[in-house]
Amino acid sequence: MRRKVALLFGGRSAEHEVSILSAGNVARALDPDRYAVTPIAIDKETGAWRLCPALAAGEAPAMGQDGPLVAFLPGGGGRLAILSDAAALSEPFDVVVPVLHGPNGEDGTVQGALDLAGVPYVGSGVVGSAAAMDKDVAKRLMRDAGLPMIVPFLAATARRPVSYADAAAALESRTLFVKPANMGSSVGVSRVTDPAQFDRAAAHAFGYDEKILIERAVPQAREIECAVLETPEGELRVSPPGEIAPAAAHGFYGYDAKYLDPDGAALLIPAALDAARADRMRELAARAFAALACAGLARVDLFLDPADPAGIFVNEVNTLPGFTAISMYPKLWDAAGLAPPALMDALIAHALARHARAV
Ligand code: ATP
Ligand code: MG
Ligand code: MG
Ligand code: MG
Repeated sequence: MRRKVALLFGGRSAEHEVSILSAGNVARALDPDRYAVTPIAIDKETGAWRLCPALAAGEAPAMGQDGPLVAFLPGGGGRLAILSDAAALSEPFDVVVPVLHGPNGEDGTVQGALDLAGVPYVGSGVVGSAAAMDKDVAKRLMRDAGLPMIVPFLAATARRPVSYADAAAALESRTLFVKPANMGSSVGVSRVTDPAQFDRAAAHAFGYDEKILIERAVPQAREIECAVLETPEGELRVSPPGEIAPAAAHGFYGYDAKYLDPDGAALLIPAALDAARADRMRELAARAFAALACAGLARVDLFLDPADPAGIFVNEVNTLPGFTAISMYPKLWDAAGLAPPALMDALIAHALARHARAV
C-alpha cells in the first residue's frame, strides 16, 4: 500500500525560495510506487497552508494561490481540516515531510503543530529544532556538553546592545561575523572589520531577528560539512566530511555564493582531510547532534583553521538542511552509497519508528 505523504514547503521565512527548490528534489526522490505525495504550500507573507493537487510521478510542487486553506487538526491523527466553505476532513496522512528552512518551519514551530496533530514527521522534534535554529542557545548547549571547539561569540539584543570595540576586545579579533541568531542560508550574515561596517551589519541582522550573534572570524576557514542520519533504531550514521570552497570573489559562503552565482562555490566530496581529522570531525558532528537533541537528520557545519592543526570548530547544526541541486546533505549521502530515494526511505522509516515508540 502506498503511504500518504504530506510535503510541507515554502514557509514564512527568508528561506522560502530555497525551500521550493529543496521540495522539488525531495518530491522527485520519493518513489511513486511507495508514496502518494500531496504538497501543502505555506504562503510566504501570511503563513497560510494551502492544499495542492497530488503530484504525478516526477512532478515538482509549485506555489498556488487557489487551493483550499488547510490545517492539521489537533488530535486528528494526521487528518487535515479543510477550511473552505463547508469545513471537511481529509483522509489521514501517514507521515509529513517538512521541507522548510529557517524560522517558522525549521525552528520547532511547525514540529509543535505536527505533535499536536499526532502525525509522524521527518526530522527533529520541537526542542531539537528550536535549539539548533537559535545559534546562541545551540552554542551554549554544545559548550555545556563539553564540545571543545566553539568559535568565541556574543549575543546582542536591543536591550543588551554590543559595540564593535567591546566585541572586538571580548572576542580578541578585529574581524567578526555578525548574523541573526535564528536564520539560515547565510541570510543576514556579514563579515566586518571596522565599527561602521559593524553597525551596518548589526542593523541588517536585526532586520531578521531580535537577537543577533557576533563571532570571532576563523581566518581563512576551510568549511567542512558532515551529514548525520539516524536509523529507525536510533543509531547515528555520519557521512564522510565534504568541503565547500567558496569562490574567492565572495570572500565567504554567503547567500549569493550559495544560490545566485552558479560558480559561487565548489563542493569537494570527500573533503581532502587525513583520516584522523576526518574521524575527529565526524565524531564532533555526532556529539553536536546529540547535544542539541536532534533526531532523524542534520547537517553539521564545521570550520578548520588551516594555520592550526588542532583548530576544528563546530559552527552550527542545520536540522532541515537544503535539498537543492547544489546541496551538500543529499550529495554526501549519495557519495556514501545512499541515493536520494533510499535516503528518503530511511528518513521516513525513522519518522514512523519514532512515532510508534512515542504513542
Ligand atoms: P546555512 O544554514 O545555510 O548553513 P547560516 O545562515 O545558518 O547558513 P552560518 O553557517 O553560520 O549561517 O554562516 C554562513 C557562512 O558565513 C559560513 O558558511 C561561512 O562561510 C561564514 N561564516 C560564518 N561564521 C563564521 C566565522 N565565525 N568564521 C568564518 N566564517 C564564518
Ligand atoms: Mg544554518
Ligand atoms: Mg540552514
Ligand atoms: Mg552553515
